[in-house]
Amino acid sequence: MNSPAPKPILGVDIDNVLADSDVQLREMIREMYGIDLKAEQMTRYEYEAYGVTWEQLGEVFRVFNTDTCRTLELVPGAKAAMQLLAPRYEIALVTSRDPEAKAGTEYWLKANALPYDQLHFNDEKHALGIPYRAFIEDRHEHAHRIAGTGVAVYLLRRPWNARPLAHPNVRHVDNWDEILKHLL
Ligand SMILES: [Mg+2]
Repeated sequence: MNSPAPKPILGVDIDNVLADSDVQLREMIREMYGIDLKAEQMTRYEYEAYGVTWEQLGEVFRVFNTDTCRTLELVPGAKAAMQLLAPRYEIALVTSRDPEAKAGTEYWLKANALPYDQLHFNDEKHALGIPYRAFIEDRHEHAHRIAGTGVAVYLLRRPWNARPLAHPNVRHVDNWDEILKHLL
């Protein structure tokens, strides 16, 4: 018997694509160090550009990776969309999180019943040799690196990726409903 044709691979980022992480990270930075960052001012997704030291950021992410990442809210529409996409695509979750977040990340994915086939902890998302059909991302830099390998990238609109797009394979999208219109 012939095996069914393999499903195309859909690459999906986690932070600020599936999980509402930025709001929580800014809350941690405010509580731990008294630095009050507004979402609108985050024109770069680099907290150290806004007065948070590397040492402080390291401490914030240590807590985030081991603890906070277990209780993040879902991005609106993400769960329903992933459940619709999973039958059609092999889902490769690819996150820049440090591997120390692996247990917490797996816990959160299971707790939220998010379907996936692969889970990678690697900042070099474009260089893993994974033949993505498409990729869903929120970081301008990652989106462009992935697009440069010939992949269609859907960039969820956020304050930190509002600057003009510089590759024809990258397209801004406002929400998960818009992503579904492209991928279903
Ligand atoms: Mg992200």
